[in-house]
Amino acid sequence: MQVILAQPRGFCAGVVRAIEIVERALDKYDHPIYVRHEIVHNRHVVDSLKAKGARFVEDLSEIPPNAVTIFSAHGVSRTVEEEAAARHIPVLDATCPLVTKVHNQGKRYIAQGRTLILIGHAGHPEVEGTMGQVSGPVFLVQNEKDVETLDIPTDAPVAYVTQTTLSVDDTRGIIAALRRRFTDIVGPETRDICYATQNRQTAVRELSKLVDVILVVGANNSSNSNRLREIGAEAGVPSYLIADGSELKAEWVRGARTVGLTAGASAPEVLVEDVIAALRRLGPVEVSTLPGRQETIEFRLPAELAQDRSSGAPPVAALVEGHDEGLETE
Ligand code: SF4
Repeated sequence: MQVILAQPRGFCAGVVRAIEIVERALDKYDHPIYVRHEIVHNRHVVDSLKAKGARFVEDLSEIPPNAVTIFSAHGVSRTVEEEAAARHIPVLDATCPLVTKVHNQGKRYIAQGRTLILIGHAGHPEVEGTMGQVSGPVFLVQNEKDVETLDIPTDAPVAYVTQTTLSVDDTRGIIAALRRRFTDIVGPETRDICYATQNRQTAVRELSKLVDVILVVGANNSSNSNRLREIGAEAGVPSYLIADGSELKAEWVRGARTVGLTAGASAPEVLVEDVIAALRRLGPVEVSTLPGRQETIEFRLPAELAQDRSSGAPPVAALVEGHDEGLETE
């Protein structure tokens, strides 16, 4: 069996940064360190951080005062930020800088007097965070049908922003429908869309031209992993989301000569290797990697954690004041 790995796949810069924030915080501050929501949507990642002393909670009410707390890569609403400040919870913010960028775009559009439309999935923590970051009503649209039912006058000044785990290709139809419906509409440049989402989707499209089956390593609550599976299926290739090698079903790959393997942005490479090992248990496997884009993007850590680990922890109070998160780009 030929196994072809997509390139790029797996961890993006936002996920690497979020995990590093937890690890460095565990190193520097008294345990336990609290994390609001799964730091990234992957059980393997969460379990390994739990084993190192991180405690994951869904609500700030579960966190004692003064316990260092990390907000997940998906971002939070202003209400959550305000509640943390009111309870004097020292916060490290692992919100991906690209998510923060969407928050800032939304705020700018509202400040310009525009009604904001968010393209995204209802109930996803990133969507809840973005809707709760801007003052003023935000209209959520999940598909082209939703555009028709928006209760906004067609000549009202409107603007749109998008959830980061949707690619240019995902949003194209919805944006076109919005532009048909509204006469005064603005939105961000397409180059502002998350590079990692776009690159992983482009790679899985390439993969789908070459393989009989696609396996996407990722959690079932990972939006971008689900989307990768859908793209494979839309291309007509049987595609399965798989958390790790233990979930591999022999019938998925029975008769397949070529299996494509990719991973969502929150899935570590060790799980890709675990799936390859599971495939090897079914028979001989030859692994190759599709040529693809090399990613060199890195995001800066919060200033409190960027210093040399040996230089000691800053006072916990320093964490409460927040920080500036710069972007390092290719
Ligand atoms: S997928 Fe994109 S937006 Fe989401 S964490 Fe990764 S880099 Fe950030």
